[in-house]
This record gives sequence, structure tokens and C-alpha cells, in this order.
Amino acid sequence: MNRVALKKPAIEGGKPVRKRFLIFGQPRLFREEIDEIIDTVRSGWWGTGPKTHEFERRFAHYSQAKYALALNSATAGLHLALDVLGVGPGDEVITTPLTFVSTANVIVHRGAIPVFADIDPDTWNIDPAEIEKRINKKTKMIIPVHLHGRPCDMGAILTITRKHKLKVIEDAAHATEAWYRKKKIGSMADFTAFSFYATKNLATGEGGMLTTNNKSYALEARIKSLHGISHDAWKRYSAAGFTPYDAVYAGYKYNMPDLMASLGLHQLKRLQANWQIRKRYWQRLDKGLSDIAGITLPPKSLPDTTPAYHLYAILIEPQRIKISRNQFIDALKFEGIGAGVHFDPVHLHSFYRKTFGFKPDDFPHAEAVGSTTLSLPFYPHMTEKDVDDVIEAVRKLCKYYSR
Ligand SMILES: *Cc1c(COP(=O)(O)O)cnc(C)c1O
Repeated sequence: MNRVALKKPAIEGGKPVRKRFLIFGQPRLFREEIDEIIDTVRSGWWGTGPKTHEFERRFAHYSQAKYALALNSATAGLHLALDVLGVGPGDEVITTPLTFVSTANVIVHRGAIPVFADIDPDTWNIDPAEIEKRINKKTKMIIPVHLHGRPCDMGAILTITRKHKLKVIEDAAHATEAWYRKKKIGSMADFTAFSFYATKNLATGEGGMLTTNNKSYALEARIKSLHGISHDAWKRYSAAGFTPYDAVYAGYKYNMPDLMASLGLHQLKRLQANWQIRKRYWQRLDKGLSDIAGITLPPKSLPDTTPAYHLYAILIEPQRIKISRNQFIDALKFEGIGAGVHFDPVHLHSFYRKTFGFKPDDFPHAEAVGSTTLSLPFYPHMTEKDVDDVIEAVRKLCKYYSR
């Protein structure tokens, strides 16, 4: 190929695709959120109170779960769920290596052992056949992660957990809007944890929600989320009169304050409209990127499932592209486009190598995706022009750096 005809990447001194930098992800704030925050600040009730409880009520309805508990993160939710379900020292919990480290960290926090099962290369989610191979007498539960918002094969996973009498906690940090067949994510497992971190589809800065259909699990999680005391402060000082608290567990400090719920109440209302826009952008990216040599597009969602469209991630094919994934991210930055990585596999992080002896090649499918994946900017307040710039930049770099 004639190199002279190729556009020089900005990282090598060429003209960038964009002048104004398109950041990878950012939450969007409306007047309603600002007014609600001011109302909360003025009300004097900054901690957990009426707005948090209203947010829980509406989120339970949205996720079709009987109970919802608002927390300060999804990580808190996963940790609480493991605690309530009785995971302790020596127990084994199976999850995917292709996730954020917190999914595995919380298993370690309980003194339990994270056991990874490789992904299915066709879905990038945990492979049910790999789960079954790792079940033994110490196995207590499974934490499937709906990576990038595509639902795991919950039918197969629930069949396995029923057969072996295991519990299931879904990590739905990416999957707030997702459905598996006729079931909303959040309505199927023993517990489901959602994240409202600043870059997630519903953002409160920091925040999360834990859903369950089990009344006693819900009650225990609620008590443990606030120091293990039997009533929360809101109820203690309410019109019903003062009652002293009693610590029935050595609980945590995981509750969501009304300040955060003020954001969540309004973000929740816009969730479906934003999902529609991302669905349109997903199709635009799929179409625009489909003829570019050197990249792999994200997998299709399983039949009869509805993805949340949280992250649009491609793979940079090392056999066709001369630069590494990390160099590709740097080059995109010079073109005016931010990108992220979701995720470098957990087992290769130094703590996991040192503590559990994991090493490269342990989970080849997760490593193949993890080492080549790159998430593109993908949020509802991008314009169509922004989406087209992303496509143009990827095309330009793939052409220039093709082997
Ligand atoms: C963001 C994320 C979490 C943690 O969410 P926090 O609310 O930040 O604790 C857990 N799992 C996955 C897959 C995530 O992306």
C-alpha cells in the first residue's frame, strides 16, 4: 500500500480528527437534579432519609424486585450480599476474571477464595460450562457479571446453581436496563448489585443498589448496611417517637445519603430515554466500524435478551495492527478521543498473582479479550457528529497502522 496516501496520525504530527477533545465518559446534569440537591441541602436532612427511601421504592419497581436497598456503591452491595448469604473463610466463590477488581476483592474481604471460570469467547461473559468444571464441596456461590451490559446466560447459570444448591449474586454494575428473556436483571438472583458510579448509565457520583426478592435477606442487608443497628436514624427521630438503637451485628457503613438519592431520583426517570439513544448510537457504531480491517466488533447479545448498552468495546487485532492496544488508546487521544479499558483480567493483577498464584495463560479467552479490548466514548449526550468522529479516528488509525 502507498504510505503517502495515508493520513498521518496526530500522535506522529498529523492533523487530529477533532480539535475539541471528546472525553471518554461523563455524567449529565439537568436543572431537576440541581433543584433537588438544593432542596435536600436546605431541608437539613443530608443523610439517609425520605429521598433515599423514595429512590429505593422507585428502583425496586423499575427492576421488578421486591426489595431494593440504596448503598454508597455496588462494591458495598456485593460485599453485603456475600455477608448475608454466609460466605466466610475457606469458602469458594466462582466468578469471571474479565471484570472490575471489586467483584473479586469482596470475596477476599470475606476471607473466601475467588475461583475464576473463563469467559465464552463468543459472548465475553462467564462460560457456564467452565463454571460447572470448578464446582466442588467448598463452592458456595456464583457471581456472574453482565459485562458491558450484555446479560449472561442466566438460564444455564440458574440450572447449575439449582442442581448444586448454590446461591447467585449478579454483578449488574453495567446492566441496570438489561433483561434476560421475560425477566428484568435484578429480579432473578438471590441478590443483584447495581452501580451508580459517575460513569455508569445511572450516575449519582458514588452509589449503588442491592435488590432481592427475599424478605429476610433484605432486612438483614438493611441492618448490616448501617452499623448493624436495628433502626435507622431517620426512623429513630421520626414522629413515632424516640427509641434507642441496638447493634445486632457488627455492621458496615454502606448507606446512601439523601444528597446522592437526589441525583438518582431524576437520573432514574431518564434511564429509558437515554437507553434508546445509546441503542441508536450502538447501531451507528456497528454500521460505521463494520468494514474496518483490524478490529473485532462487540459480540451480539444472546437471543431473547435485552442489553443495557453500557459500554461499546472493540478488540484491536494484534495480527493485523502493528501497535498495541495501549498505543492505540494514546493515538486516539491525540486524535481528540478518549478511550477506556474494561477490563484487564483480575487474575493478572499483582495482588491476585501473589496471593493465589495466578499466572498468564490461566484463562486464555479472558486474556485475549482483556489485552486487546478498548472502550469507545458512548453516552447519550454525544452528538451523531461525535459518534462519526470516533468512527473516523478508528478507521484512520487502523489504516495507518495496518500490518
Ligand atoms: C463499576 C463496577 C463495579 C463497582 O461499582 P462501584 O459502584 O464503583 O462500587 C463492580 N463491578 C463492575 C463490573 C463494575 O464495572
